[in-house]
Amino acid sequence: MKPNLENLKALVHCPVCSKEYRPAKVLLLDQEDKRSTLHLTCESCSASSLVYVSMSPVGVVSMGVLTDLEQGEARRLFKGEVISSDEVLTVHRFLKEHRSVDELIR
Ligand SMILES: [Zn+2]
Repeated sequence: MKPNLENLKALVHCPVCSKEYRPAKVLLLDQEDKRSTLHLTCESCSASSLVYVSMSPVGVVSMGVLTDLEQGEARRLFKGEVISSDEVLTVHRFLKEHRSVDELIR
């Protein structure tokens, strides 16, 4: 099943205050068969984050990392580009410091 944006929106929460995001504040940056990258701005606490959502055999896994990128900047950054290893490392570090993997699997 290919995830659509509506499904993805239902899955993601603000990493800061745990509120669900409003659809208007969600920007789809990149989408492949089993992986999507979203930029989200929380209306409650104004935190922006990048969220990677991937479909795995055990279900949907989402990883969020705070960013100071505005949506426009994020869009430019992602246009036609793959996610760099630096960004993957950033996510990895974030997860190591802030969350256990269990919390991320919904
Ligand atoms: Zn928030």
